[in-house]
Amino acid sequence: MNLLQTMWSISRRKSLINCPRQYILRYSRSQRFSKNTQNIINFSLNDLVIRSSRKVIHERLEDFKNGLEWSEKMISLKIRLGIKEEISSERYSAIRNSSNLKNLIHSAKNRINSLWNTNIFRRIISGQIKQWSCMDRKKFLSNGHIDIFCSPDISYKIQKRWHLLRIDFQGELRNPSDELESLAMVNWAKKNNFLPYVNSQYIVNTLKFINGKWIHNRYLPTDDLLQQSKQLLEKDVNEMNKLVGKMGPLLNLALIPLSNNRYTCKKCSFKPSCPAKNGLRISKLEQNAIEYNNAKINFESNG
Ligand code: SF4
Repeated sequence: MNLLQTMWSISRRKSLINCPRQYILRYSRSQRFSKNTQNIINFSLNDLVIRSSRKVIHERLEDFKNGLEWSEKMISLKIRLGIKEEISSERYSAIRNSSNLKNLIHSAKNRINSLWNTNIFRRIISGQIKQWSCMDRKKFLSNGHIDIFCSPDISYKIQKRWHLLRIDFQGELRNPSDELESLAMVNWAKKNNFLPYVNSQYIVNTLKFINGKWIHNRYLPTDDLLQQSKQLLEKDVNEMNKLVGKMGPLLNLALIPLSNNRYTCKKCSFKPSCPAKNGLRISKLEQNAIEYNNAKINFESNG
């Protein structure tokens, strides 16, 4: 059984940092061998709305290129359709008329509209930026042992430089690795036949939705920073593997740490089956007791 973690993406990284248990349940290949777990990624409704919104941005831009403008109603409808496509008909029937879904679609539509008002999008739509294209996030770069999913959402050219833009619907205010995470896009782009190989021809941009606003950041790649970015990815995948190893041969999920932040639990699709559903603080205390017990058993059996 090969349990090695061999994929890296910003979503995987976020999950690993925000809640190791969520990472294991959502992304760890080891879980696909577990009889009690579904063999598909279980997305929360919030995640589904974000995935669908990303698709809507691309479709709306492509239609715009072909001279088609979308109405407000069309945006909402497309977000809804995107969600419907990703879930079972039973799950969709259960949520289709819920106020939760309606509210999520409404706020996603507003986010998309405010994205259209950002400087970058206004320049694309007004034709000031002439050369641009939407990129597929499913395209990955392989460095031999890790498949790296870090494609930009849009690439565009201003004068002689290529801009790589990533859109993050769930931006985080303080993330010390922002720059290195984002620069992974340059390593990805340099392997793309249609983009240049020279670092100085790139500018990396991120648009992150934080506290109701799109925040724009720009980063310039240097050889040194790109090397550090590669090292960050290697380190993450190493941590992912260590985490899977922590479960032991019986894939004991109870040994995997829970989140440190109850706000992460709020939006987590695994909450109904997680010990944290009864309160994060008490669940963490119980987990410490389990770990202590296991360590004691190991110590005694090796003594
Ligand atoms: S409910 Fe909280 S602790 Fe449990 S998996 Fe989700 S984020 Fe982690």
